[in-house]
Amino acid sequence: MSAKSVSVLPSPKSHTLQQPNISIPPLLGASLEELTAWVQQQGQPAYRGKQLHDWIYQKGVRTLCDISVFPKQWRADVAEIPIGRSNIHYRSVASDDTVKYLLQLADGQIIESVGIPTEKRLTVCVSSQVGCPMACDFCATGKGGYKRNLARHEIVDQVLTVQEDFQQRVSHVVFMGMGEPLLNTDHLIGAIKSLNQDVGIGQRNLTVSTVGIRDRIRQLAQHQFQVTLAVSLHAPNQALREQLIPSARPYPIEDLLAECREYVEITGRRVTFEYILLAGVNDLPEHALELAQRLRGFQSHVNLIPYNPIQEADYKRPNQNRIQAFVKVLKQQQIAVSVRYSRGLEADAACGQLRAKNQTKLS
Ligand code: SAH
Repeated sequence: MSAKSVSVLPSPKSHTLQQPNISIPPLLGASLEELTAWVQQQGQPAYRGKQLHDWIYQKGVRTLCDISVFPKQWRADVAEIPIGRSNIHYRSVASDDTVKYLLQLADGQIIESVGIPTEKRLTVCVSSQVGCPMACDFCATGKGGYKRNLARHEIVDQVLTVQEDFQQRVSHVVFMGMGEPLLNTDHLIGAIKSLNQDVGIGQRNLTVSTVGIRDRIRQLAQHQFQVTLAVSLHAPNQALREQLIPSARPYPIEDLLAECREYVEITGRRVTFEYILLAGVNDLPEHALELAQRLRGFQSHVNLIPYNPIQEADYKRPNQNRIQAFVKVLKQQQIAVSVRYSRGLEADAACGQLRAKNQTKLS
């Protein structure tokens, strides 16, 4: 598909309505109540809030001018108020039907999203930041630097965009794209609420993946969502973890796991631990044993992710024998474990790489 034009939406900050003290961000991500309050502030009847909500979330309207059920004069008055949709800048389809997107935001920044269809599901992998400051040694996004947090509407937009492109309802959302969601908790929480209540995705079908930021797992737990928490552990001890994840230095693995235990206690949900397998680095049977000992008695599940090679790092993916040997040790120790392969690899490889490849096109 050819690249679409650059968004012409004006910057959100420039929008101050005629009435005093009302400055609004893009409308996408707002609840029915918020939209109703807004139309009423505009002198419109309350039922227009429900209409606006339907047009934004069900019909996927991109500008207020296009809402044909609204009075012409009012449409003209509010024409400049942004809904907050992105444009598809680039799209690539892998042979397994996974679709990777580069989306262009109102300020020209580019983010990655992925649509992953399976028989019964359509999962969207969303970004939470432009770039990422965590600098994990095996991650293409981490190597590319950090720009800014995404706003609530920019997170919700990714799901609507994939839904429209596939012409199929999105059933699951995973926060495993670019960025560290727990560095953007306010907008993450706003987006979770909107994806659940406005887009209609069950909380249990939302997964937040994090490297772990002190106190933020507890903060998320206190919202009592039924979302799945996935923690990128990647190592069974602090020394090895720090080597792979430099940002883990001030947050010892014991403290991280203690906060994860609190998450289980507060929400009643088990935690998923993600563990990338890097040949010769963290994939030895003794690593598996140490991991099992750490997680003993913990209501958890381990997802092993064989490394997707990226240009900027020298790691290798372990062979099948090594992967299976690691699984065997965990199973012997009664740890629930699955192996997850990334999909859509041959098209544009691991997360962050699609954007890295296209960077030159953006300058
Ligand atoms: N910052 C969050 C979410 C983004 S990364 C986090 O770290 O969890 C989503 C997952 O993809 C993480 O588990 C991350 O470690 C993994 N990942 C990153 N680069 C990878 C690569 N090259 N191969 C396999 N998994 C990778």
